[in-house]
Order: sequence, then structure tokens, then C-alpha cells
Amino acid sequence: MKYYNIIIIGLGPAGSILASSIKNKTILVIDKKNPNNSNEGFHKPCGGLLAPDAQKVLAELSLSIPKSVVVDPQIFSVKTIDFDHHLERSYQRMYLNMNRHAFDCWLMSKIPNHVEKATSCTVIKIDKNTEGQYVVTYKNEKNEFFSCEADMVVGADGASSILRHYLYPKAKYRYYTAIQQWFKNVDIKPVYSCIFDSTITDCYSWSISKDDYLIFGGAYPSKNARTLFEEQKKKVSLKLQVDFSNAVKIEACLVMRPRLMKHFFLGHDQAFLIGEAAGFVSPSSLEGISYAIKSAMILAHIINGGNKSFHHQYQVETRKMRMTLYLKRIKCLFIYHPILRKWVMKSGIRSIKVNEIV
Ligand SMILES: Cc1cc2nc3c(=O)[nH]c(=O)nc-3n(C[C@H](O)[C@H](O)[C@H](O)COP(=O)(O)OP(=O)(O)OC[C@H]3O[C@@H](n4cnc5c(N)ncnc54)[C@H](O)[C@@H]3O)c2cc1C
Repeated sequence: MKYYNIIIIGLGPAGSILASSIKNKTILVIDKKNPNNSNEGFHKPCGGLLAPDAQKVLAELSLSIPKSVVVDPQIFSVKTIDFDHHLERSYQRMYLNMNRHAFDCWLMSKIPNHVEKATSCTVIKIDKNTEGQYVVTYKNEKNEFFSCEADMVVGADGASSILRHYLYPKAKYRYYTAIQQWFKNVDIKPVYSCIFDSTITDCYSWSISKDDYLIFGGAYPSKNARTLFEEQKKKVSLKLQVDFSNAVKIEACLVMRPRLMKHFFLGHDQAFLIGEAAGFVSPSSLEGISYAIKSAMILAHIINGGNKSFHHQYQVETRKMRMTLYLKRIKCLFIYHPILRKWVMKSGIRSIKVNEIV
């Protein structure tokens, strides 16, 4: 069985940045995605909006986004629609509108050649051998199975992390089911909207223009997510006067929404969790790319430092990030509590006035 110092599961932003940043180790990375920027294989369902915090961490890594990752149009405001109180406001936002899959593929292309890559491969089992090393089993597209060993394993495998399930089989965490549909050539002005409707979800829905497509999606309680999605779609279709009848694509996945400190999972016994696998996602906006990259940078720094108390250091160095995410529960109150949101929207605080010129 082949041996590596480190096996990284998942090549979203967290896994790719980690794999690109660790020095002097033998590394295997495994991901379900097809690395070619094609329609094949797994695509992460995502709004694909790069928030200022994520832009800052990329700047700190001296990474400049290529044109191939950016989509049309760039929208600098979000239209906020509150179905509970029939309110509408616009707020300035400085997001970069991207093709999320192209972004992931671009980050994967930065991984140095000495890192071994098993792409279009799915990890199906994690175990420990008698020497205490991790044994990771994965399969490729042809259903061929492979196993390899490592002293350290990192779960950068997102909300449904197989490593988190292995390390914390009984843990309870807070998650929603995110569903998105893509519509082609919809007759509507470019839009980015956030929709709040407490009769459907205590999270939110969104619509966003991306090249020739309009995406409508939302995060819903998992129990009857599809029904809730359809109900919300119907209401938004009437409100925005959009024809949502011909979806060309539907995608769904879990999204973590931490509320308590115990909703973060850092790992133990030489197994680490980073990015969304660890619960590092904003519970107010569901923005997670910046936290994925930040946690990867923290772990890489610790591993490269060579200090043996990895877990203690990871705990210490992620404390600020965990606290920031935990404190977003205060922001959540003003966004998600119907009465407080009504008060904020009615007051017009931080909103902008939009005058349509054409
Ligand atoms: C619908 C939706 C919209 C979002 N919109 C935004 C947004 O606009 N902006 C923003 O900043 N954040 C957004 N987020 C959050 C953001 O997508 C995540 O926080 C971010 O992608 C986390 O990065 P990650 O690298 O930790 O995990 P992921 O990006 O989820 O990557 C995990 C990787 O692991 C791989 N993987 C998983 N399981 C296995 C396995 N068993 N074997 C092999 N590979 C595996 C997957 O292929 C994937 O590539 C959104 C989330 C959702 C669900």
C-alpha cells in the first residue's frame, strides 16, 4: 500500500490552498471533481460570489483571478426582498461575480507537481491500521478501488465531510439543504437578490445573473427542502415577473450553518478539518470561501512550522475565526428575525437609492 505523509480529501478552495502551501511532505490529494474546466464530474453548487474578505486573502497570497474565472455581469448591489412585510431595499455589495467551478479548477491548477492528485475519485472509507496510520480508500470513475496510508489526514471535503463523520460519529451540527436551478436566457435585467420569507425558511433564497443564466436557489430545512424550494420559486417568479419553467440544471448539497461553538470541528489524532468540513461558514450570509482559505493557510503554517502540538496550535490559531463566526449570531438576529429585519429595512440604514436610468 502506498504511503504519504499527508492525505488531503477535497479540493475546494480549502484543500487546494492547503495542498499548494505545505512544504517538504509527500502529499496525496483526492477529489470527486474533474479538474478540466468542463461540464463533467462534480461541480460545487455555489453562488460564486467572491466577498471582500475572500478577495483580501487572495491578495495576501498574491493570487490574481484570471479573466476566465470572472463572469458577466458585475453587480454592485443586492436587492433585498422581504416577503413577510412586503418590503424591498437595495444595499451596496462589493462581490466579484465568478464561475465557481472555473474558480475551483484554477485553484487546483496552482497545486505543485510534486503533490500527487487523484481527481474524479471519491473517498469511501477511512480507517486506522494497527500502527495508528490512517488508511484511506477511494474509487475512481471506473469503480476501481485504491487504498493508501498516511500519518496525517485532512478533511477539506465540505459540508458532508466523510472525515468529520468518521471523527465525530455522534456529533450534532446545524445544516440546511441548498438547492439551485439554472435558467437560460431569461428575460430579466441582471439581478442579484436576497429573499427572506419566514413561511418558507429561516435562512434565505437568492437569485443571481451569471453570463447567459439566471440562478435561483436557497437554503431550506432539509426535511422537505424540495417542496419549500418550489413554493419559494413560485412566489419569486410572480414578484420578479420571471418565467422559471425551463430549468437547464438543478444542483443541491448541504450547507453548514454554525450557531454554537460546538458546531465547529477541528479534528483530533492527526486528523484535521478545514473549511466547511470544520463548520467555517458565515451563518448570516453562508459565505464560506474566505474562511476555507484562511483555515487552510492557518493549518499549512502550523504544519510547515514543524511544532508537534499541531492540534493545540490549530485550536489557538482558529480561535479568532471561530469567535467571528460565533458572533455573527448577533448579525443574524437583525437579518433573520422578522420584526428586527422589518425595523432595519424600514429605517433604510445602509441602504442605497436606486434610480433606473434606462
Ligand atoms: C448554494 C450555496 C451557495 C454558496 N454561495 C457562496 C458564495 O457566493 N460565496 C462564498 O464565499 N461562499 C458561498 N457558499 C459557501 C461556500 O461554497 C463554501 O463555504 C466553500 O465552498 C467551502 O470550501 P471548502 O473548500 O471547505 O469545501 P468545498 O468547496 O465544498 O469543497 C469540498 C471538496 O471536497 C470534495 N469531496 C467531498 N466529499 C468527497 C469525497 N468523499 N471524496 C472525494 N472528494 C470529496 C468535493 O468534490 C469538493 O471539491 C455557498 C454554499 C452553498 C451551498
